[in-house]
Amino acid sequence: MIDVAAKLKDIFQTDSNIVFCSHALPDGDAVSSLLAFALLLKDKPNCSFILPDMCPEYLSWLPMSDVLINASADLDAANSLILSADFIVAVDFNAYKRVSFLQNALSNSTAVKIVIDHHPLVSDLWDFVYSDTTASSATEMVYKVLSAIAPSSFDKDIATVIYTGIIADTGSLSYSCNNPDTYSAIAEMLRFGVDGNEVHNLLYNNFPFERTKLLGYVLNKLVLIKDKKTTYYTLSKAELDMFGYNDGFLEGIVNYALNIKDVNLGAAFVERNGKTKISFRSKQNSVDVNMLAMRYFNGGGHTNASGATVDLTIDESVNLFIEAVNNL
Ligand code: 5GP
Ligand code: MN
Repeated sequence: MIDVAAKLKDIFQTDSNIVFCSHALPDGDAVSSLLAFALLLKDKPNCSFILPDMCPEYLSWLPMSDVLINASADLDAANSLILSADFIVAVDFNAYKRVSFLQNALSNSTAVKIVIDHHPLVSDLWDFVYSDTTASSATEMVYKVLSAIAPSSFDKDIATVIYTGIIADTGSLSYSCNNPDTYSAIAEMLRFGVDGNEVHNLLYNNFPFERTKLLGYVLNKLVLIKDKKTTYYTLSKAELDMFGYNDGFLEGIVNYALNIKDVNLGAAFVERNGKTKISFRSKQNSVDVNMLAMRYFNGGGHTNASGATVDLTIDESVNLFIEAVNNL
């Protein structure tokens, strides 16, 4: 951390062009870790904050979410920011392919590349690395960086995004949450006036009616492979259209596949832009779904939460999954 924190402190005092970016289909951790920097650097016009896709609606209430650049809406602008950057700070991912169509710009960029991430490191090139696979979230790592380089910068807004990133990436402190540091960070953020109840309501009690109906539909079609302690569900584009789907609707739903006693592994297969987006979840000390995603689907993630996007139909993906499960 020290290297990365010192480097960031250094470059924040210059007028260099700095691009902060996170992964495709951004979640609460991706958005919050970018916004913590956006709030810290709000007076620096030479900093930009790029996401490959739109910030999902359920996170749009976060302070300064309007500065996030949605690369899918203006790819040329995002590419040119990346290609003309002096420094790129990547948060919540470390494999270049996780920025989807920004991957070429990221790999061709001559910028100094800094990464802050809690996923297992792959071999892509970074100049400065702060990696901690035991961290609850990238946001918690950003909190540690800010505490080291700008302890007086914390205010209610920064505290709110940090609190939200940690809560979102731990399922409200229900997984990746055994490190006391996580609770220290949460406690510290509450001291800046964060309203934890309000954040919970905004994150989890704020969905469109159709999303709850979609949840009911998904739960009804959940498939159980009893002897493999596995459940999964599929959603085609036609099914999603029935519920007026938008990105973010499915956030958290795959976790229901694990609610069941004696089920250790859950998976979701969703049609997206002609491909299949897969999510895997497992209970602690059961299946390593990072390995499963890497080995069979060229994806990745964490031991108990991983994903992939594959050029297969839903049926083909499910067949491959069943083969993988039979080999466990
Ligand atoms: P989700 O299922 O919520 O999309 O993703 C769960 C976890 O897997 C997250 O930590 C995410 O970063 C990771 N993940 C999701 N999709 C991919 C992917 O296509 N490739 C890799 N390497 N990781 C993924
Ligand atoms: Mn994360």
